[in-house]
Amino acid sequence: MSLLIDAIGELSTQHLTGEASPASGEGAGVLRDAAVVLEGERIAWVGRSADAPAADERYDAQGRAVLPGWVDSHSHLVFAGDRTAEFEARMAGQAYAAGGIGVTTAATRAASDGELRRLLAGRVAEAVAGGTTYLETKTGYGLEVGHEARSAALAAEAADEVTYLGAHLVPAGADPEAYTDLVCGAMLEAVRPHVRWADVFCETGAFTEEQSRRVLTACRDAGLGLRVHGNQLGPGPGVRLAVEFGAASVDHVNFLDEADVAALAGSWAGWADGGAAGDPAGTVATVLPACDLSTRAPLAPARRLLDAGVQVAIASNCNPGTSYTSSVSFCVTTAVLQMGLTVQEAVRAATFGGALALRRHIGADTDGQRAVGSIAVGHRADLHLLDAPSATHLAYRPGMPLTHAVWRAGQRMR
Ligand SMILES: [Zn+2]
Repeated sequence: MSLLIDAIGELSTQHLTGEASPASGEGAGVLRDAAVVLEGERIAWVGRSADAPAADERYDAQGRAVLPGWVDSHSHLVFAGDRTAEFEARMAGQAYAAGGIGVTTAATRAASDGELRRLLAGRVAEAVAGGTTYLETKTGYGLEVGHEARSAALAAEAADEVTYLGAHLVPAGADPEAYTDLVCGAMLEAVRPHVRWADVFCETGAFTEEQSRRVLTACRDAGLGLRVHGNQLGPGPGVRLAVEFGAASVDHVNFLDEADVAALAGSWAGWADGGAAGDPAGTVATVLPACDLSTRAPLAPARRLLDAGVQVAIASNCNPGTSYTSSVSFCVTTAVLQMGLTVQEAVRAATFGGALALRRHIGADTDGQRAVGSIAVGHRADLHLLDAPSATHLAYRPGMPLTHAVWRAGQRMR
């Protein structure tokens, strides 16, 4: 079954180079009066509406804008419980500390499989309704072998990518060194069948540089791709470690010194933007604007990172403590209005940038899986149609419900 979506006023392909690129001649990855043909789960054709081939079905976009679906490369959706009181306290002036994770851990351990599965499915549905078509989520509220394995298995049922975050927090009462050993040993073994990635919260109050190094080494040796929560609450070794270990992404990055920015930029030396096949990807800096707002933290320096030549992703960090929203549209709006990005830069960071952070961009070794985060022939048919003539409206009309239709792997989701 094929579907022609035509009369697209503005098609933001985010596809800049490579053989499948349409010859647009209209600036970086944007086509006007465009059309797309979906065939099964893949994109079969991209070009001008006037040249579009026939298909089994037709959807008239009536001049609206189409972008790749959001690629949300950072979320924590497997949890139970509520942290409204902590949020209220923070808004009343109390500082955020990593310890609130323990509250969610207790509630998550107490929840049944069925309850967690229902909560997770509801959160994924909310994300998709907001235009997210490719979603990473993490463990990290089990913090015990059986509970981490359960979280990983449930996440694998619901999300596109699963990350092992046993190293989220040392549980109350546990010895930090012994717990780190567990994360690197029996817990890693238990989650391994369900996850592609591992992550560590390298921060004062969570895991030290030395402990983080042990976690990253063990997980890399187990064949997992690496990610790091780093430099969120203050300056620290997270960024440096992420680059040293060749992590796909370091996330938060609020407090960066010149050496951190230079290390990130250096990881992208030799990269041709757009990702021609074979270009080695470096370490993406993933900014989490909703989290910065929700913790009243200084916004991550996304503008400075882009200017330095670092590839940036925007993600929701949806979690019950510091960013209880999966709205990537809100994050994009914030990145434009408060972080100094242009609309095209922000949209790119939340689509192609997320794909880069998950190594699912075109040119990545994707185990035969289709590329996401950009619109080109052969990529997964993940489209976000706005009730607006251009992506600019995401920032120009902040907070408006602009998501009009969503296709995920060729399936109409909304
Ligand atoms: Zn996080």
